[in-house]
Amino acid sequence: MESGMVSVDRWCAGSQVYFLTHLHADHIRGLTPKWTRGPLYCSRITAKLFPIKFPGFDLSLIRIVEIGHWHSVSLLSPSSVSSTILYFMAIDAHHCPGAVMYLFRGEFGCTLYTGDFRWESTSERAQTGRTMLLKAMQDVKLDMLYLDNTYCNPTYCFPSREVAARQVLSIITSHPNHDIVIAVDTLGKENLLLYISRVLKTKIWVWPERLQIMHLLGFHDIFTTKTSVTRIRAVPRYSFNIETLEGLNTMCPTIGIMPSGLPWAPKSFRGKEKLSSESPPLLLDNRWHTDIATSSTSSKPNGGSLSSGRYDHYIYTIPYSDHSCFSELQKFVEFLKPTNIKGIVSSSASNVDPLYHFGSLCRIQQASELLCQRLKSKRYEKVGVIGMKSPFGCTSTMQLGRKRRKRQNFSASIHVSRVRLLRRERQGVKIVDTDPD
Ligand SMILES: [Zn+2]
Repeated sequence: MESGMVSVDRWCAGSQVYFLTHLHADHIRGLTPKWTRGPLYCSRITAKLFPIKFPGFDLSLIRIVEIGHWHSVSLLSPSSVSSTILYFMAIDAHHCPGAVMYLFRGEFGCTLYTGDFRWESTSERAQTGRTMLLKAMQDVKLDMLYLDNTYCNPTYCFPSREVAARQVLSIITSHPNHDIVIAVDTLGKENLLLYISRVLKTKIWVWPERLQIMHLLGFHDIFTTKTSVTRIRAVPRYSFNIETLEGLNTMCPTIGIMPSGLPWAPKSFRGKEKLSSESPPLLLDNRWHTDIATSSTSSKPNGGSLSSGRYDHYIYTIPYSDHSCFSELQKFVEFLKPTNIKGIVSSSASNVDPLYHFGSLCRIQQASELLCQRLKSKRYEKVGVIGMKSPFGCTSTMQLGRKRRKRQNFSASIHVSRVRLLRRERQGVKIVDTDPD
């Protein structure tokens, strides 16, 4: 396979076929209702949700990829003008509704692009995915793994979503007289909301677009747009910030819950908008507190002490993540034993090439050398085309969307609110690597 044949989560001109892993914003940047560059392959659920995201999109371009089945497409080699067959399979990414990984096979070898994914070893869905991968790769080795390296750092250690959901519930039940706002994206975290609704026997407020999505996903009679019928609201993540919570608390006691694998960087204000650089992260009772302390008073809900100052609101971050934690990534790489590995997030929170942690688990013998070359060449910041050495001795290329998240400086993180960090993540651009390896 040569350059100009396949793109994954990348929507520029120059490919013959395009693959979409899921509908989160950082994977569809560049995709518009008027986009017509070629056939677009996606899962059945993604296809169902597509018209909401892209009203007016030419749906005849969409090709549904059934999970767990091999599909194929004939592509034209731009250089030899001969055809070559690309085989591909979608595997449940266990990330958000419709999210899939893609396994590609062809003359170029075998490549897996995870997109965003969660690999909870105890979950039944991960077991199913494992079985699918084993079956699909029983006679080949994986030449290249493009990995969701969002949390590719041993510091990112968080529990399964089942455990985290219980933590969320515990916070809600310990605030019986508070309104609750939970930050979510337009897609994802449905199981958390369903769990809360089921256990507390209550409806959950969502905004109108979210309600439409919930209905399309088959969740009727659980979500509502009427604020009067519930104290629990799932709100868009972009609207979840300290200022909003302050405003809400002037009307009714309210707490905010941010489900995320990335802990908030707690802030200690020395006056409004002035943050202390010395304040260490604070973890109390497994709750990350984001505190705003003024110089006037000292109090906080539920007793205890954080630091001097008045905490006029609380935001809880619960490690409920739709991305794999470090140990899950490690297990995944151990399981696949790829020849080579690259991260799809060019500048993740961990900001480390997956080869650094997992090179020894790959089949390549010179992982450290390769890593050095990558670091020296700074190719992670470039835009171009990925090349892959195939087991057949030819060089293959595939254009792949690589998420670029704002580099997070740990020493500086205590200065910056979580909300602002999240906003930066959303401003990332697609990057395509130029690595020849
Ligand atoms: Zn995602």
